[in-house]
Amino acid sequence: MEKGTLYLVATPIGNLEDITLRALNTLKEVDIILAEDTRKTLKLLNHFEISKKLISFYRHNEGVKIDYVLSLLNDGKNLAVVSDAGTPGISDPGEDLVRACIENNIKIVPIPGACAFIQGLIVSGFDTTRFVFEGFLPMNKRGRKEKLSTLQNEERTMIFYEAPHKLKYTLADMIEYFGGDRRIVLARELTKIHEEYLRMTLKEALEYYEENDIKGEFVVLVEGNSIDEKEKISDESIEDLMKKYIAEGLDKKDAMKRVAKDKGVSKSEVYKHLL
Ligand code: SAM
Repeated sequence: MEKGTLYLVATPIGNLEDITLRALNTLKEVDIILAEDTRKTLKLLNHFEISKKLISFYRHNEGVKIDYVLSLLNDGKNLAVVSDAGTPGISDPGEDLVRACIENNIKIVPIPGACAFIQGLIVSGFDTTRFVFEGFLPMNKRGRKEKLSTLQNEERTMIFYEAPHKLKYTLADMIEYFGGDRRIVLARELTKIHEEYLRMTLKEALEYYEENDIKGEFVVLVEGNSIDEKEKISDESIEDLMKKYIAEGLDKKDAMKRVAKDKGVSKSEVYKHLL
């Protein structure tokens, strides 16, 4: 028996008009849709008058459902994977299933469409020729800091996803590693009624969110570390850098850590120098 095909179907990230004809036809034609949240997908299907069998397929059951999904595909069923919004497999379920299909010689077809980080990137005004997508930072503070420290000298545009209630903490952590003057863009509520782009420095963004409510969904874009900035750092004295980071709001200990990183020396060397 011929095996079925797995379609990875992108759905809108807000505006329901952002779905392609091919996506709609695929959703109509497959046997079953694997949905991250069946209630959300049902609303989308109802809007386009599509009636189809749905199976719940989300991050925490992706592992246990894979064998069942593979058995359906091996039985010749064509399946579509959709997430709550945007492109499946991008900070959303799908990645493990794709690997399992490759191992089992099952055909996979992407059906292109909306993806929040691409939309944020193209309006950012930052370099779009070289960029890194980092998705969500780790949940725990230590993991976040470790990740940000590896990105400190990243020259490419950096793109992050973030939940609104964590945005303030993320901005504060970023200041520690990228400096308060680094330019960012907060792409908020893309394709929705309250869509807006906040173009500011990290320090300005943190100040803004200390005074304003944080609502909606965000893509956080951070301009890469420019060569000029790196040269400036290597020319600046340890004392000047300490003053700068303390003025940006870091305490003495964190400022020393930051200077040590900038200069590529140990914290104790910075400490000795300051003495
Ligand atoms: N698979 C999705 C995609 O293709 O973009 C991403 C899913 S991820 C679980 C959700 C995150 O994407 C949100 O926390 C936010 O950072 C970003 N996001 C999704 N929709 C957005 C929108 N309309 N505006 C801004 N950011 C959005």
